[in-house]
Amino acid sequence: MKKPVVILSLFSSLGLLVSACSDEESGAEESAADGDGPIQVTSTTSQISDIVENVGGEHVDNTGLMGPGIDPHDYEASQGDVETLDEADIIFWNGLNLEEQMTEMLGQMGNEKPVYTLGEEVPDEDILEDEEEAGTPDPHIWFDPELWSYAVEGVADGLAELDPENEDDYRANADTYIDEIQELQAWSEAEIENIDEESRVLVTAHDAFQYFGDAVGMDVMGLQGISTEAEVGLSDVQGVIDEMIERDINAIFAETSVSDSAVDAVIEGAQEQGHEVENGGALYSDAMGEPDTEEGTYVGMYEANVNQIVEALD
Ligand SMILES: [Zn+2]
Repeated sequence: MKKPVVILSLFSSLGLLVSACSDEESGAEESAADGDGPIQVTSTTSQISDIVENVGGEHVDNTGLMGPGIDPHDYEASQGDVETLDEADIIFWNGLNLEEQMTEMLGQMGNEKPVYTLGEEVPDEDILEDEEEAGTPDPHIWFDPELWSYAVEGVADGLAELDPENEDDYRANADTYIDEIQELQAWSEAEIENIDEESRVLVTAHDAFQYFGDAVGMDVMGLQGISTEAEVGLSDVQGVIDEMIERDINAIFAETSVSDSAVDAVIEGAQEQGHEVENGGALYSDAMGEPDTEEGTYVGMYEANVNQIVEALD
């Protein structure tokens, strides 16, 4: 049974090697690092794209792989993505098991070009763990603006190393962006204080909001664990219902990148047990909104979440 697996993985890594070689031969890898045109950047999630575009400004041409509604936990790179990654001068990704299906490929690409794991920029002691599986890091670091600042610095470091000529611009842009997200955190904390203290509980489809809860002062509860790859069982649903009844919580939130089915099961189950729960609407968790809208920016999606939470729980 083992042989076919070995052959398959050998075959796919050969495929990668061949495509990398043919690129070099055809001279397709023209890069800004050589002095002409913007730096070609490929980013995985939309939150990372937002940093790259703000920090890199006119010096970079960023391609984001994951758009609105995309779940990074189960996202698999398409052939087109592999070509985009092959052509990039530099790659930024979250790591910490967020883009689980891309871990091996990006690890291999790190042998050929700079691949920055932004999750590793955050100090170890600030990384939360999966409550159900000790030692497994929680990758949703963008929900704590203070921690996300480390990722911003990481992008500035990566771009400055590749393109030292424009380092001053990258550093200045990073400082401006960090100021903005610090203001965002202060605003969010003040908004959440409008909710009665005992109602400051955020129940969501998957456990993406632990850092958010720490940052703004809310208790959080997810139906699924920190990865959407986990199954939601009847006992998970009942556990959340019990907690919601006990603490008299009346809203649960869906997410734009996760199916609503488990959330609906909680609402129905709670109702059968005489407890009214409303769907507070879909929050932006692992994906942002449509490009060219407010919610298509990091600051805009964060504000939209906070406004929606306050409205449903106040
Ligand atoms: Zn997630």
